[in-house]
Amino acid sequence: MKTQENIQFFNTLTRQKEKFVPLEKGTVRMYTCGLTVYDFGHIGNFRAFLFEDLLRRWFEYRGYKVTQVMNITDVDDRTIKASRNQGVTLEDITNRYIKAFFDDVETLNIEKAEYYPKATEHIPEMVALIKKLVDKSYAYRGEDGSIYYDISKFKDYGKLAKMKLGELKAGARVKVDEYAKEEAQDFALWKAWDEGDGDVYWQTELGKGRPGWHIECSAMSMRYLGETFDIHCGGVDNIFPHHENEIAQSEAATGKKFVNYWLHNEHLLVEGKKMAKRLGNYFTVKDLTAKGYDPRAIRYLMLSTHYRQQLNFTFEGLEAAKNTLERLTNLARRLQDANGSGDDEDLRLLADRFQSSFEEAMDDDLNINIALAALFDFIRDINNYLDKNRVSSQEAKRIYDMILRFDLVLGVIGEVKEQQKLSKEAEELVRKREEARQAKDWKEADKLREQLKAMGVIVEDTAQGVKWRIEKH
Ligand SMILES: [Zn+2]
Repeated sequence: MKTQENIQFFNTLTRQKEKFVPLEKGTVRMYTCGLTVYDFGHIGNFRAFLFEDLLRRWFEYRGYKVTQVMNITDVDDRTIKASRNQGVTLEDITNRYIKAFFDDVETLNIEKAEYYPKATEHIPEMVALIKKLVDKSYAYRGEDGSIYYDISKFKDYGKLAKMKLGELKAGARVKVDEYAKEEAQDFALWKAWDEGDGDVYWQTELGKGRPGWHIECSAMSMRYLGETFDIHCGGVDNIFPHHENEIAQSEAATGKKFVNYWLHNEHLLVEGKKMAKRLGNYFTVKDLTAKGYDPRAIRYLMLSTHYRQQLNFTFEGLEAAKNTLERLTNLARRLQDANGSGDDEDLRLLADRFQSSFEEAMDDDLNINIALAALFDFIRDINNYLDKNRVSSQEAKRIYDMILRFDLVLGVIGEVKEQQKLSKEAEELVRKREEARQAKDWKEADKLREQLKAMGVIVEDTAQGVKWRIEKH
């Protein structure tokens, strides 16, 4: 929590790791592209949101004040198409998925951003920005009435995606929001109304129409974070055209650098394959919780691969994540019960070493793989000490608090219940089993253990006596 000096990130803009220097000391202003609310967010979307959550939590751990903006794309090609296909209004569709999005945010214990601006509530800002681009001759009206950005006018066009623009066809233009790198051309800022838009349009100084997707993020990010801000995040598939176009729009309008650090997370694969509805490996957060998976395990699995590596989401991995969390929670419980003696000095050294390894790894471009490896070494070591009853209650408390402090970053343990209560019946069985054990009636003891297990009570015989815990289902 002491130092803010050592954080560095891989900046997509320069393709190298750079020391993080905020515009304003002790504060971070970051924009994270949000969900297009035409469907439920899938776990690929949430990989990005969880990476961004880890990023903001790390900044907070380091004592920064974070201002995060996550937009909600509630008007674009896809939302309009979905509303028309289903024969309901744009609002009906987007409200449904906005609600679902916030449910998922809560399920996955994602910290709330400071602002969630909706595109439909910022049309005037978009219109003003487009006007500015027209005035500065970076934009022009096509014969279809739409307004396009002239990429040949912006000399830095392609700097984020590292594109060579030599072979561009002058004047070729694209109206759809999404297109490939090979199709780089003038793109729509304002789309003149056509039949496909149905009743979705705004009557503005620019005419009857609606904004393009890219201008939405330029307008909303600058509205809340200023003309230049620290960090912009998104998935790698946003680099082109979305973020390239955001830079072109914003920098042409203001004459200033738009964003200092661009951070992009890699794709998520499911069982080694690209996720697709037709492959049957497409999952939303609700699909997984409906299968009975613990949201904390989902969160952990998605966080535990470095954001710049492809994440292979597997059900085996989800089971392993569950076991890992079980280990963490068990350690927390054992620490609460610890009452040994000796070795405080050693433990303190161990704890300090763990803390600095974890911090160093996270400061280095959020290297979670190394941070977690340090955590598991530490858990193993502490469990060894606990097995030998060599952790005093005072030292245990210190370690426990430290683990909870790191959990503010990981967000997977949460409150560990001080003490669980057994039912009268279970209490009686535990007592009987104790008697059987004392009488060395192992058969009876095992029978009672099975009986308790069937009730969801797990009994363990440890060096410190009998321990039980209630298994959650
Ligand atoms: Zn965006």
